[in-house]
Amino acid sequence: MLPQVAVGRHCCAQSTNPDNYRPLVGDALVDELKQLARSLAGVRICQINATAAGGGVAELLGAEIPILQAMGVNADWRLIHGDAAFFEVTKAFHNALQGADSDLTETIKQTYLDRDRACAEMIEGAYDVYIVHDPQPAALKHFAKANRARWIWRCHIDSSEPNPQVWSFLKPFIEEYDAVVFTMKEFCPPDLNAAHAVFIPPAIDPLSTKNMELPEEVCKRALANSGIDLNRPILLQVSRFDPWKDPLGVVKAYRLVKERRPEVQLALVGAMAGDDPEGWRMLETINAESAKDNDIYVFTNLTGVGNMEVNAFQRGADIVIQKSLREGFGLLVSEALWKGKPVVAGRAGGIPMQFPEAYEDYLVSGVEECARKVLELLGDSEERKAFGEAGQEKVRKEFLLPWLMRDELKLVKEVLSF
Ligand code: UDP
Repeated sequence: MLPQVAVGRHCCAQSTNPDNYRPLVGDALVDELKQLARSLAGVRICQINATAAGGGVAELLGAEIPILQAMGVNADWRLIHGDAAFFEVTKAFHNALQGADSDLTETIKQTYLDRDRACAEMIEGAYDVYIVHDPQPAALKHFAKANRARWIWRCHIDSSEPNPQVWSFLKPFIEEYDAVVFTMKEFCPPDLNAAHAVFIPPAIDPLSTKNMELPEEVCKRALANSGIDLNRPILLQVSRFDPWKDPLGVVKAYRLVKERRPEVQLALVGAMAGDDPEGWRMLETINAESAKDNDIYVFTNLTGVGNMEVNAFQRGADIVIQKSLREGFGLLVSEALWKGKPVVAGRAGGIPMQFPEAYEDYLVSGVEECARKVLELLGDSEERKAFGEAGQEKVRKEFLLPWLMRDELKLVKEVLSF
């Protein structure tokens, strides 16, 4: 059997009662969600991805599975596993789906197929619906023993202009699924011949330790304990150390800001994900940058920065940056907006859809523009406040977990009726 993620422990402090979301999203949505859950009684759902920690997919599954279970939905979360060579291949596929160059050799194809075939043999057959996330396990459906289960492939990547070689290799596997889900319509490759394509944005859990309210005092203490000066402005980017998240671009933008506002500090927080070998290489480069400047702080989950600390850092920062060059959705943007923070972010993937109307000006396409927008916000506390408030409202209405769960359960019902 594929290893199962023990979600109870994975997201310890999280509330799992859907009624707790009523004050945030209203009664109608929670009632609809519970009704859908009741209608799926007895249906066994298995979510499958490649890592239990690090990155948006793990974040989402860790949040939604316990709530589904609390509502009586029989939902499990299982992991495929692979060695370093497999994850090098799948990270290259991830990048290629986002448009990066790729040298797709027979060895690469074989590494991928051998592992997915081996994992498919470990699939437990008693589920009614499998929801498979991203390219790492995409060939599972192909290799799984035929049974009556329905299969959904959930793509979290901006695959609107995929590398043609990698895409033509993966496409036939994806077309075998009963339904495919993209974050937005624009992400669906134009030639995908999907039986059923659906568009559902991800969401954040407002009650998780990552996003719950925290007393200001706690946030301040977390920052001060990390050496950050609370009396000087703090810019923050939280992101995997990944070239597409452009942490080096953030450092460059910060340096431009610092020429005009020497008091500014930069905190870079990056979780290291088990399926992301690139991250370790990038961390070395970032550490070298911070060694040259006492006002650049680098933190990782390896040095104890977990969900609570990320929450405190986001709440304590003056401006959050998410300078992505390519992006799936970018949960970090909603996380920061939900905390009432102004965000300067790359005009990439699902980021613009999260921005409140009238603040799209803070979407940027380069280092200089990023620095300019940060400077503008640093000089205007009213604007920072208004932006944060508008952002919080936008997230409440569109990107809180119950919306996503509602849409997913609807889809599960739909595929079961095929
Ligand atoms: N994250 C974290 N610590 C970090 C970096 C990221 O907890 O140091 C979390 C972040 O809070 C968010 C998720 O990982 O919930 C990243 O999701 P996103 O969609 O922004 O990007 P992805 O990493 O999936 O490309």
